[in-house]
Amino acid sequence: MLLKPMFMKIPEEVFDNAYKPVKNHMDDNAPYTGCMYETFGQELYYVFMASKSEELGRKVWTIVEGDEGQSYVAGFHYVNRLGFLITEREWPSEEAWVELEDLTCQKYTNYYYCGDCKERWEDIWDCKCDDKCPTCNKAYTPYKSEEI
Ligand SMILES: [Zn+2]
Repeated sequence: MLLKPMFMKIPEEVFDNAYKPVKNHMDDNAPYTGCMYETFGQELYYVFMASKSEELGRKVWTIVEGDEGQSYVAGFHYVNRLGFLITEREWPSEEAWVELEDLTCQKYTNYYYCGDCKERWEDIWDCKCDDKCPTCNKAYTPYKSEEI
């Protein structure tokens, strides 16, 4: 478990504009619009060496998969890593933790009512979708949805 002492929640676009990930020079078809370095082989070796270097040491980020989605964590880490990024600009702090905000995903509070056991409940989803009654497990469509 990594601590999150310098936490930012921003869209990927904002991160890209702020820190400017460089293209992976070893793989033209790398994920993250050609910028991600893999967690194995030559690319891993390159990133590891970069993280130890004077020139690039403060420009290495680890892409990690967390409970809330993907984050970019300053420095070279092993836990839950998906890949690495190297940016033109240095990270603001060695404790920087950037959680990517998903703007394409509209969120709703959905309100449900179960006709069988008269249960009422609400849940947050990214669509107006069915949910199962917490008591009897039958699926219901929401009678009301509110955008958050
Ligand atoms: Zn029910």
